[in-house]
Amino acid sequence: MTNTPKPTGKALLNNAHNHMPLGVADSYRYWGEQDTVFLKSMKGGTITDCDDNVFVDFRLAYGPIILGYRDTRVDQEVISAITDIGTISGFSTPLDSEVISLVKALCPNIEKMRFANSGTEAVIGAVRTARGFTGRNKIVVVEGGFHGLYDEMMWKPDVDNWDSETQAAPEITSFGAGIPENTREHLETVPLNDFEALDEVFARVGNDIAAIVIEPIMGNCGSISSSQEYMQKLRDICDKNDSLLIMDEVKTGFRVAKGGVQELYNIKADLTTYAKAMGNGYPVAAFGGRADVMDMIKFGADGVTHGGTYTANMIALSAAKATLTILKETDALETIDQVGADIQEVLGRVFTQFGIEHRFAGPNAMFGVHFGDEVPHNYRDWKKTNSDLYTTFAHNLIKNGVMLEPDSREPWFICEAHKNVDLEWLENVATQSMQDALN
Ligand code: PLP
Repeated sequence: MTNTPKPTGKALLNNAHNHMPLGVADSYRYWGEQDTVFLKSMKGGTITDCDDNVFVDFRLAYGPIILGYRDTRVDQEVISAITDIGTISGFSTPLDSEVISLVKALCPNIEKMRFANSGTEAVIGAVRTARGFTGRNKIVVVEGGFHGLYDEMMWKPDVDNWDSETQAAPEITSFGAGIPENTREHLETVPLNDFEALDEVFARVGNDIAAIVIEPIMGNCGSISSSQEYMQKLRDICDKNDSLLIMDEVKTGFRVAKGGVQELYNIKADLTTYAKAMGNGYPVAAFGGRADVMDMIKFGADGVTHGGTYTANMIALSAAKATLTILKETDALETIDQVGADIQEVLGRVFTQFGIEHRFAGPNAMFGVHFGDEVPHNYRDWKKTNSDLYTTFAHNLIKNGVMLEPDSREPWFICEAHKNVDLEWLENVATQSMQDALN
């Protein structure tokens, strides 16, 4: 019997190039020919790559893992559901309302809800419902926010090529080829925490604004956060103009607090989108909110259409049932909050030791790290931070067994299983990684 050597990550990528563009299933997983990661397994707060390197993972699949990878409490619920009930049938099951009741118990602003299969789909559903309810077209989004990969939301300020010394706004460009120019026709973009920009856009096109869509804590921009006053301003300006406020809680929902950002700010959205932490890594998403708005989803020419073959499948709903029950009934989020605070303390000590000005942004469960002497207030401010140093530091952390996205626009995600992280080890690794970054 010959013992064939296990393919390394490099060999796997070479082979995958024959099968997928860039050799990966999602373009953001391509980190270059040398650094693209191929995983063998995940457990708790760690991942193991195909070369048997183990990492403590603070990337957590961009946020969904809230309890830990392969949490048996969730996995068992899913196994029971698919073996005792089935996967999909094209009919309803009692689990639909059961899961929504759990969401309502955690998020009192939700009166009615519908499921989706991804954050993108949830946003599409919420935006369509808002347009149906208001009879208007325009959507206001915030620079640095991200709402999924569908054409209309695939426009962003070109901050990478923008001179932060100028007063001029960065140019809004598409995510690349294949996005028709007219998909941005109904999109208005404003900088976060800028009251004047908001007033200006409402003065100009307020009577056609269906909704503002915002990540109040920007999980796609280093957790740069809306101020309390700005959130209140959003609520007031929407009310005054009969527009809806949609909070995209795909990253923050069931993570930053049991009731998400709306619990933290005590400001109510008309519609909210959820995904990620809702199912601890199983593909579940949802949107919901005011009953009168959600009831626009109905038959007839004046009703909003929503559905999909895999919507509310048993895998997704059983995972959501287990995850939400645990989040509701245990102190998992308190643990996560404490671990996140401890990790920031460790990192802060290391940065201070090297004389690096730094600021943390956002809540402990998903905090951003910014090298600079001010907490950024919006995406334009982020440009002024030393993100290159962050990226070098992050690459060194990865080499030393700490996984994270090497881009300071992606926060550090904490899961309950991280309570086992050895903080002394982390401090040593961070010290070494910063030392190397500065040499
Ligand atoms: N909205 C927000 C705030 C997100 O962070 C994401 C993904 O990261 C999405 C929407 C899209 O979710 P998905 O990747 O599940 O389609």
